[in-house]
This record gives sequence, C-alpha cells and structure tokens, in this order.
Amino acid sequence: MINIKEEIQKLADEVECTLTERFWAMHKTTEQNTKRVLEAFQNNRVSDSCFAGTLGYGYDDKGREVLDKVYAEIFGAQAALVRLGLVNGTHAISAALFAATAPGEILLSITGAPYDTLRDAIGITGVRHGSLKFYGVLYEQIELLANGDLDEAEILKRITDEKVKTVFLQRSRGYSTRPALSISAMESMITKMKEKRPDLIVVVDNCYGEFTEEREPTHVGANLIAGSLIKNPGGGLAPTGGYVAGDSILVQRAAARLTSPGIDGECGPTLGMSRLLFQGIFMAPHVVCEALKTVVFCAAMLEKLGFETSPGPQEHRSDIIQMVHLKTPENLQRFCRGIQHGSPIDSYVTPEPWQMPGYDCPVIMAAGAFVQGASIELSADGPMREPYPAFLQGGLTYASGKLGVLMALSEMLDGQ
Ligand SMILES: *Cc1c(COP(=O)(O)O)cnc(C)c1O
Repeated sequence: MINIKEEIQKLADEVECTLTERFWAMHKTTEQNTKRVLEAFQNNRVSDSCFAGTLGYGYDDKGREVLDKVYAEIFGAQAALVRLGLVNGTHAISAALFAATAPGEILLSITGAPYDTLRDAIGITGVRHGSLKFYGVLYEQIELLANGDLDEAEILKRITDEKVKTVFLQRSRGYSTRPALSISAMESMITKMKEKRPDLIVVVDNCYGEFTEEREPTHVGANLIAGSLIKNPGGGLAPTGGYVAGDSILVQRAAARLTSPGIDGECGPTLGMSRLLFQGIFMAPHVVCEALKTVVFCAAMLEKLGFETSPGPQEHRSDIIQMVHLKTPENLQRFCRGIQHGSPIDSYVTPEPWQMPGYDCPVIMAAGAFVQGASIELSADGPMREPYPAFLQGGLTYASGKLGVLMALSEMLDGQ
C-alpha cells in the first residue's frame, strides 16, 4: 500500500511549486544531451541488425562495434569499450587505471582517497597480488580542501615531478561528504595541469556523473573515463556492464586488460543483449533527469522539515547522489524502510542494519530494483553513525521516485 500522510502530501504540493525553474533547467540539459545521443546514433547508422548479437568468441559483432563508436561520439572521445564483461564500475575503472600506468610511475589521485572498492585494486590496502602496487605502480594522493575544492597549488607543485605520469579524479562524491566535482572545475584544473605537463594522462572515475551536466570529462581534456552501466549510462535497461572511453591507445590497453593482450576488444559476445545497451544509452539522459528531479525533490522536502541536505535543492549538481542528515538512528531506519516499501520490487521486505565487510559500523540499505544493485533505480543507504546520513540516488521515473520519497518521509514522521 502506498500510504502517504496528509501533511506530507500537502507539503509536497507546496515544495514542487518552488522547483519549477530548477526542473525546467534540468529538462534543458536533457534536451542537449539527448541531441548529442541521437546524433551519435544517426552518424553511426544504428539499425536493428545491430541487435542480433553473437555467442562464443563474439568475433565480428556488429552491434558491439557500433555501440563502441556511439559511446565514443557521445563522450567526445576517440574510442570507447562498452562490455557486458566489465562486471561493474570498479572493474571498468580498474581496467582504465591499468591502461594508464606502467611500473615505476606514480599514479596521483587529486580528489583524495578513491572510492572504497578501488583501494584493493590500487594496492592502498596492502600489496595484493595483481594490484597496481604489485606491478610496481606507485600511488600518492592529494586531499581536497576543507570546502571540497581541488588543492590547486599543491597539485601544480606535485606534477612537476616527472615520475607522476597519471592523474586520477573522482567526479562523484561517492559515499562521502564532499561535493561532486563540477565539469567546469575539472576543465580549469586539467587545463592548468596540461599547460605544465602536456604528457600527463588524466583518468576520471565518471560513475554517477554521466548526463548530469551538458559536458563530460572527456570534453574538457580527460584522456580516459570509466563507469558502470547499472548506473547512469545504462538508462535503467542495461542488465550489467561497464564502459571506458577516451584516447584510442588507452582504450585498447583497457581492452587488453579486460580480455588478454592481443585479443583486446576483438572478442566479447553480446549474447543478444545489445538492444538493451543501445536503448539504455538512448534513454539515459532522460532517466538521469528523472533521478535528479527525484533527489532534488527529496532535498527540498527535507530542508522544509528542518534537516540538513547536501547538495541543497538549488545547488549545482554533477552526480545523482543526495546526502541527507537524518539526525537519529530511528529516522535513518524509518527512511530506508519507507523507500523499500515504496519500491516496485521486494516492497514487502524490511531492511535492517547489518555489519557489512569493510565498514566500521552497521550499514542499512534499501533497494527494490529490477536489476540487482542498480543504483540508477531508487535506492538509499547509510552508515548507522552520527549524523545518521542517508545517501539517496536513482529513480527511473520521477513519479515513482517521488512516491518513494513521500513513503519514506511518511514513515519517518510516523516515528516522531
Ligand atoms: C559506484 C561507484 C564506483 C564503482 O562501484 P561498483 O559498485 O563497482 O559499480 C566507483 N566510484 C564511484 C564514485 C561510484 O559511485
């Protein structure tokens, strides 16, 4: 049952009126991005013969080859590799990092610590067999400033060292309290770094960022980006997969890392799934807009109710993640319960906090998704510790996302 408290419904009607201009601006971004996507389909002559797919080795898979070109054009890159065999974002980013580094060189992260799951791949957590560190790639990081900006002076100083060959940036906040990095901030930093070091390779973790702005990191000088297809670019339709896009040589090396040197991107059966990947990227600008509207609406509602949100409802966005401080463990649990009960799948399940490996406190998660773990679908999670933050993202349609948020807030107020 969709049970929404009357006072919440009333507040929703008021809040929505304050968001008309904000939503209008988001629709404009969607139009721009849709135009770029549509032109990429047309220029690469996508036809239904692309959907046939292959089995076995997957040689001469027309759909796969055309989809790579479509992604490359959308991202303003020389080449792209879009594969079901890239099992998640971590896998795609890790392939990108292996492609962009060599033994003895320094990989420098300029957005502080990378996303949790990448730390093993880099070797930050110790020399794990097969990690970058295991193969002799050194790693350093420069923290973001307290306000979340890049530490420009420190970065420009550090890259004068010729051993620093690759710079890594994470666009999204991920599950941290820092804000997402805007494309214009990225553009300014990349331009300044390349003035000093034209040979520098810039790699960007683009997870959760695709289509939230009108340009992508590859439009502003990034050499290689990577992301997950069960987030933004899969448009909610991709059943699994990841992508990398950027300079041809780097994309080829990432393919060699995924398969085997010499096999590169020539193998990889699409198993009849190509249509979903094409249709997914076609839908993605629209679906990302629906997800953004959902979280902006949630932020505006919670601000009205006296909670702190980041980003605020009117703030610039470069990812689809919304953080809200729910203040008490009860609020966090009730909020997640409401999201779950408002989902199309597994709505009858009640999420409970649990001690997840790799976390220092119990974590609660709500997700009722068509595709396991797909966070372009409405989902929320949070660590059970002060200030009891919930991270909310996704929403395939604004109407359903909004209902989920209203369920969550009704559930939360019931406990007060
Ligand atoms: C989701 C995400 C990843 C990769 O996570 P997977 O679960 O492996 O897809 C990496 N970086 C950021 C910032 C992310 O949001």
